[in-house]
Amino acid sequence: MSKAPRVTVVGAGVLGLTTALALADCGCDVTVCDPGGPNASSIAAGMIAPAFEAVLDESARPHLDLLMLARDLWPGLAQRAGIVLDRSGALAVGDETWLETVAAGFAALQIRPMSIGGDAARGLAPGLSEAFDEALLSREDWRVDAPTALSALTSAATAAGVTFQRRIVRERGDADVLVIATGAKEGLEAVAPELSHLSPIKGHIVRVAAQSAGATVRGEGVYAAPGSGLAFGATMEAGRSDVGIEDDKAMPLLAAGLRLFPGLRGAPVQMAAGVRATTPDGLPMVGASAAPGVLLAVGARRNGWLVAPLVATMVAACVTGRDAGPYAAALDPARFGA
Ligand SMILES: Cc1cc2nc3c(=O)[nH]c(=O)nc-3n(C[C@H](O)[C@H](O)[C@H](O)COP(=O)(O)OP(=O)(O)OC[C@H]3O[C@@H](n4cnc5c(N)ncnc54)[C@H](O)[C@@H]3O)c2cc1C
Repeated sequence: MSKAPRVTVVGAGVLGLTTALALADCGCDVTVCDPGGPNASSIAAGMIAPAFEAVLDESARPHLDLLMLARDLWPGLAQRAGIVLDRSGALAVGDETWLETVAAGFAALQIRPMSIGGDAARGLAPGLSEAFDEALLSREDWRVDAPTALSALTSAATAAGVTFQRRIVRERGDADVLVIATGAKEGLEAVAPELSHLSPIKGHIVRVAAQSAGATVRGEGVYAAPGSGLAFGATMEAGRSDVGIEDDKAMPLLAAGLRLFPGLRGAPVQMAAGVRATTPDGLPMVGASAAPGVLLAVGARRNGWLVAPLVATMVAACVTGRDAGPYAAALDPARFGA
């Protein structure tokens, strides 16, 4: 019997952890290296949201099929790692013109949201403002609590035999395969030149202390995602890679969130910022680098939680010599050239 490949995964965000678990499940000898501390995955809202992302985000719109496939891998991952997957769905609320735009977006994608009344919406999203007397409900979008899910992934990976090292990786090393899942952090471009195609997008998010459960709410320019408190997100600040909190970015988010949930005015608030990594076409880079024995799992933009199981499955297929599936070419790191 040939020896299990030794794989080093650089990065313990959602892409690194999910990939490490998939590789361990395929019999690889996996080490995850990360210095620790907050990352984009830990501050994210945890929405698994193919439908609303395709409707509301231009760069996601052409990729609904890929996003749906990724979402459909979530029940298996949730069961494998012991993650609670909330399937309450997501609601759009707002003025008539904006709701019409959202409805047209759904129609263009041939997804049928349900039109519901304000009281029904408040039943699904307790605390939602009395100002809304109608809403659009889609059950296509799901959610996890990001910090809890990261812990569950770490525990599942550890139980599967993955070892963890708290350190920064600066070079290729001697593992049979190096998987780079470093999010928006720079530093390994000399190891994998494709990383120079990534650029950062800073995102502020505001968490209000509240008992929260039920559906995610999408308003114009803001969402409110239950979980650990209610998260109002998120700004998209292209080209920014710092994580400093700026009042002029965070306070408008808080104000917009409180218009959705006015009863939370005065509740304790926690502000955070993280950095997403994006490629020029908004899709991740997944698969072989030009550098021998190096694979990439980076560039998931604002949908890293959503696409994580797809990325993990594809990387595991590459390492074990299996077919990486229908999106291998679309996500090939070579697509942007040298
Ligand atoms: C405010 C906000 C809200 C979001 N909400 C959602 C959402 O609701 N749904 C969704 O799907 N996505 C969401 N996202 C996007 C999502 O968070 C990211 O796409 C995803 O977390 C990226 O995961 P990652 O593993 O690639 O990177 P990260 O989570 O950033 O992890 C990268 C890790 O690599 C480590 N690292 C970097 N360099 C090195 C090195 N040289 N050596 C060792 N370790 C290294 C870092 O320490 C870090 O832990 C949100 C993002 C933000 C900012």
